[in-house]
Amino acid sequence: MSKYFTFIGPIAAGKGTQAEILCEKYGMLHLSTGQIFRDAINQETELGLRVKNLIENGFLVPDALTNEIVKEKLANIDLKKGFILDGYPRTINQVYELNKILKMFNISLTNAVLITVSEEETIRRISGRFSCAKCGHNYHDEFNRPKVEGVCDACGSTEFTRRKDDNPEIIKTRLKQYFSEIQPIIDYYKEEKLLIELEATGLSVQEVTEKLEGLLY
Ligand SMILES: [Zn+2]
Repeated sequence: MSKYFTFIGPIAAGKGTQAEILCEKYGMLHLSTGQIFRDAINQETELGLRVKNLIENGFLVPDALTNEIVKEKLANIDLKKGFILDGYPRTINQVYELNKILKMFNISLTNAVLITVSEEETIRRISGRFSCAKCGHNYHDEFNRPKVEGVCDACGSTEFTRRKDDNPEIIKTRLKQYFSEIQPIIDYYKEEKLLIELEATGLSVQEVTEKLEGLLY
């Protein structure tokens, strides 16, 4: 039977990476909101053009439009493959809307999956990030250093940059804000007995994948 998941989790908890790995392995569709927006923009659908206009003018995409665009996407994919939603729903209104949308397609959510890591590890993962100033290739102080110290693997540049908002205080604030935003969603899925939680602190990408496979498949 086809499975339909939504992956929830703060920055750097690894939900995008895990969604990608599992979709590849199980032939499911990975539906991240970012990618859905980009696809709609590239295909110049009417909704895509509205999103493009908003983003280019520095506005956030409102709930109602996000819901419309998710609906449009689901109408155009092979639902038998199953999917993992990544980054949607983000608000309780989107949760209710998602229920309605799924009902229109005669399917329902299999599970909502919450992946978390400790605040300390989030800070370690994020604050170590830097990238090549020239080509944008990503690195990490601990996990992914250039092969030759101080030289970009991809383009040979010797200049690197760090994002200003990748510092511990800002990360802590973002985490708090994220959890206060998604708490109603977590409560809702818990109540519906759909929530699966995975604490991924200290686990490698592969270990997290194995645990998720045990829980979901
Ligand atoms: Zn480079």
